[in-house]
Amino acid sequence: RVAVVGAGVSGLAATKCCLDEGLEPTCFEQSQDIGGLWRYTEHIEAGRPSLYPSVISNTSKEMSAFSDFPFPEHFPVFLPNALLLDYLRRYAEHFSLRQHIKFGTTVVSIRQRPDFATTGQWNVVTEAAGKQTSDVFDAVMVCSGNFSEPSLPLQCFPGIERFGGQYFHSRQYKHPDVFQGKRVLVVGMGNSGVDIAVEASRVAAKVTISTGRGAWLISRVFEHGYPWDMILNTRFMSLVKTNLPGPLSWRLINYKVNQWFNHENYGLQPEKSWLVREPVLNDDLPSYILTGRITIRPGVKEFKDNSVLFHNCPEEEPIDMVVFCTGYNVSFPFLEESVVRVENKHASLYKYVFPTHLQKPTLAVLGLIKPLGAIMPVAEMQARWVSRVFKGLCQLPSQSVMEKEVNEKKKNQVQWFGLTFDEVLKTEWLVYLDTLASFIGAKPSVLGLLCTDPWLALTIFFGPCSPYQYRLGGPGRWEGARQAILTQWDRVLKPTRTRAPAGSSSSFPSLLIVLGFLLLLAAVILGF
Ligand code: NAP
Repeated sequence: RVAVVGAGVSGLAATKCCLDEGLEPTCFEQSQDIGGLWRYTEHIEAGRPSLYPSVISNTSKEMSAFSDFPFPEHFPVFLPNALLLDYLRRYAEHFSLRQHIKFGTTVVSIRQRPDFATTGQWNVVTEAAGKQTSDVFDAVMVCSGNFSEPSLPLQCFPGIERFGGQYFHSRQYKHPDVFQGKRVLVVGMGNSGVDIAVEASRVAAKVTISTGRGAWLISRVFEHGYPWDMILNTRFMSLVKTNLPGPLSWRLINYKVNQWFNHENYGLQPEKSWLVREPVLNDDLPSYILTGRITIRPGVKEFKDNSVLFHNCPEEEPIDMVVFCTGYNVSFPFLEESVVRVENKHASLYKYVFPTHLQKPTLAVLGLIKPLGAIMPVAEMQARWVSRVFKGLCQLPSQSVMEKEVNEKKKNQVQWFGLTFDEVLKTEWLVYLDTLASFIGAKPSVLGLLCTDPWLALTIFFGPCSPYQYRLGGPGRWEGARQAILTQWDRVLKPTRTRAPAGSSSSFPSLLIVLGFLLLLAAVILGF
């Protein structure tokens, strides 16, 4: 019996993967519906994430799908939140997940039972309609998300207590009319900050974004109009990125991201450009900077009564309203600190999933990671691995090996991703997916396929690493995986090629063939 906490993306995947492995999941959801983060409500509910209605997914539908359930072909390539929720509803329906979810039930506490060392069991206390119930579970999957507790570090902003205007966290934001005619300051250059600044600038008198570190800005409409993640997240690109020497690799990243526009000229150049911080996806910002609707400034030095002072800028800027887009804290109020300890938004978990020090590996945290790619297939892969560990079909290494790896990782993170704010949970998307897939025997073998199905092998190696690749073989093999991979570009073009002449087909695959053979030859020569 497995307790699953939360019925968002990770919780739904966890419930489904438990069922696939013949485990018995009970999913506890404190609200009355599925969808977690992706279920928009006009009212902000305590303990639940809060979206603004204009949120659109940052990753494309082909790269964001669960591995055995592609998005409908008529859905747009990037998904407005309502359609993403629609997809999750279809998923829950298709795999009959709802009957395993207890709605309106909050998990109050999860504690090890006295005989934990031998049984690995947990006492799970839940509350529904004011009544508490305690149940025993053999294992727990924590899927409660990390976007419910806003981080509002006012202590980092001297003078905020005397600022006479209005200020609030981005979690409070719903509609741009609050900015009508105001001079607005947006603090923080994450995806929320840029989305909100762009919306505000359509009605506000003036909009300024303050960013301490700057950021790489990427357009959803990438090279030749294809979705960014389908171009960048390929096995070939990953091989190049991970094998190039560090300086060359960041020069390549610099070059690629500056092709759209020169970040330095727009005041956006990341402070430490060799650190990979989460890119910001926005198609409007460069043109809004160019047309003077949005101004980029450095970090805030001090707030005054009706204005703000920035670092390295002598002049005060008059401001009426501040939106702190300063991200979220991670916390697990129902767990003891001795089970999962969060430090600097980072929990020391083996592969970002398992606490390293439990006598039995019967508790896992899902979705607590910020990969540079879509989160849904990652959460699903974690769930596939975890359910097999719970079932005893996969073993974890010893405690000392796991601890060593976690500590090494922390050190490397400082070099590679930085260790501030939101950086600590980031990791290379494809490498991470492949690692977990290899644990459960679901990693596709490009070389093996080259002998049996060369066209598929080429598509897998040079094409986007769409999640269906992880259903070609191994446990949870899906009959439709090959077809889903070979038709992925059709589903991308379907909603946009709406007046193509009859009979025309995608030009991408033919380009892929030519390029593919050339590059494969090079890869084989270089030893793959
Ligand atoms: P975030 O990515 O965590 O960014 C928060 C930003 O606040 C930081 O990058 C930093 O900006 C600033 N900041 C944080 N602590 C600070 C401090 N102590 N002092 C000064 N500045 C500080 O938060 P978010 O933008 O709310 O995004 C949260 C997650 O949701 C992200 O993973 C994001 O990609 C995701 N999201 C997705 C979408 C979408 O799919 N369309 C939309 C919104 C958010 P500077 O370094 O620039 O100063």
